[in-house]
Amino acid sequence: MRVAVIGAGAGGLAAGYALAKRGHGVTVYEKSEESLGGLAGSQTLAGAVVDKFYHHIFTSDAEIISLIDEVGLSDKLVWKNAKNGIYSGGRAHPFTTPADLMRFTELSLPGRLRTGLTVLRAKSVRDYSRLENVSARDWLIRNAGRESYAKLWRPLLDSKFGDDADGVGGVWIWNKFKLRGSTRRGLGAESLGYLRGGFGALYGRLADIILARGGRFLFSEVTSVGAANGGGVSVTAGGERAEYEKVLFTASPSELCRIARLSPEYAERARALKYKANVCVTLVTKRRLSDYYWLTVAQPGAPFVVFIEHSNLFPDPSFGGRGYIFLSRYLDPGDALFRAADGEIADAFLNYLGVIFPDFTPGDADAYRVLRAEYAQPVVGLRHSARILPFETTLNGLYIASMSQIYPEDRGQNYALISGRAAADAVCSGI
Ligand SMILES: Cc1cc2nc3c(=O)[nH]c(=O)nc-3n(C[C@H](O)[C@H](O)[C@H](O)COP(=O)(O)OP(=O)(O)OC[C@H]3O[C@@H](n4cnc5c(N)ncnc54)[C@H](O)[C@@H]3O)c2cc1C
Repeated sequence: MRVAVIGAGAGGLAAGYALAKRGHGVTVYEKSEESLGGLAGSQTLAGAVVDKFYHHIFTSDAEIISLIDEVGLSDKLVWKNAKNGIYSGGRAHPFTTPADLMRFTELSLPGRLRTGLTVLRAKSVRDYSRLENVSARDWLIRNAGRESYAKLWRPLLDSKFGDDADGVGGVWIWNKFKLRGSTRRGLGAESLGYLRGGFGALYGRLADIILARGGRFLFSEVTSVGAANGGGVSVTAGGERAEYEKVLFTASPSELCRIARLSPEYAERARALKYKANVCVTLVTKRRLSDYYWLTVAQPGAPFVVFIEHSNLFPDPSFGGRGYIFLSRYLDPGDALFRAADGEIADAFLNYLGVIFPDFTPGDADAYRVLRAEYAQPVVGLRHSARILPFETTLNGLYIASMSQIYPEDRGQNYALISGRAAADAVCSGI
């Protein structure tokens, strides 16, 4: 069968790999060679290869761990205990273990105890269906109390979802508590995994296997998808039109609506699946700024909401002793900051870094790169299960596997790989 996969992110490459292994003729379309691996692809900055957007995996991410092994990269997989923190009330507080929560004096003692119990209670919930009808906000206020919500959870929800924070479903936060607990040994720190040299190595390896099995890659943006005359699906990219028996699209549903002719009802449903965008500055510094891996910035007015000192947890000889740091902000694609010039974004982020770390001056920066992702995080609202699109679309032979279809888990490479493999099964069913 001739199949086209649109998008060479984790989902598209997992699907292409599964289809190529079954002997199908796979063509993968990707906007540009630089985009191989999608959001989880790598970049080269100041002589070192790092992820474009910061990535780690959890010990419970069984699919990606087994795929890394299957393609012969397990010698590159490293596991480390992370030191995390929260920047709040003008200072950084360690926030790695339950003991750190008990020492988090921004919250009253009853607030800390209720927060700890809420996290524990969430982990024992097996049936999440009841949480579908309650917002994360209401569920947190009911369980952890208003103080904990205002000082801890609201800034965290705001940092990811902004104006959409109040509409985020209880399932989303429940799943976060469950996931983070599953990667922790007892009361200790979280164990996080990284592929030395960046996760791009995994996606490069999948691409090589697809090629070795007779597949091909066309680095060109697909501008149109439609029904082909003799059955099947047509794909147009770079002015060239080709026909396939089946086509799998792996980017956002609203992008699909932009390029494919779908029924108005389907398009309305697909466009309602909102995503947040992300702006991420990768910064190379002459020296270490902290001993944290991850610092959530829960401070009103901060231009970025996450500080990740990647080189603290996953140092590499190619870093040459310099700090590799990510500064990240989720926002609406219509936000002026998303469209601002790179220099303007870097100035705002680096100036604020000097607020968090008063020793830091912009002169400590050796290099930086600003990256934007328009579709970075689906907004998972109430009763999301009823809004999820099936793999099959209303155009015969056209399928979709996107981040918005991952549920009750949140997006992540592990789930993109599972979804890509399952979509490949759907594409093959009935042939
Ligand atoms: C800031 C940030 C941090 C993250 N941190 C982690 C983490 O720590 N751990 C983790 O596991 N996950 C993390 N993730 C999530 C992870 O990156 C995603 O879940 C995963 O990479 C999604 O893969 P995907 O294939 O579904 O989508 P994408 O990676 O978005 O791939 C879609 C691909 O389709 C291409 N495309 C779109 N339209 C077209 C078109 N018309 N023609 C051709 N090509 C097209 C795009 O260029 C892209 O390459 C993070 C994401 C972000 C944004």
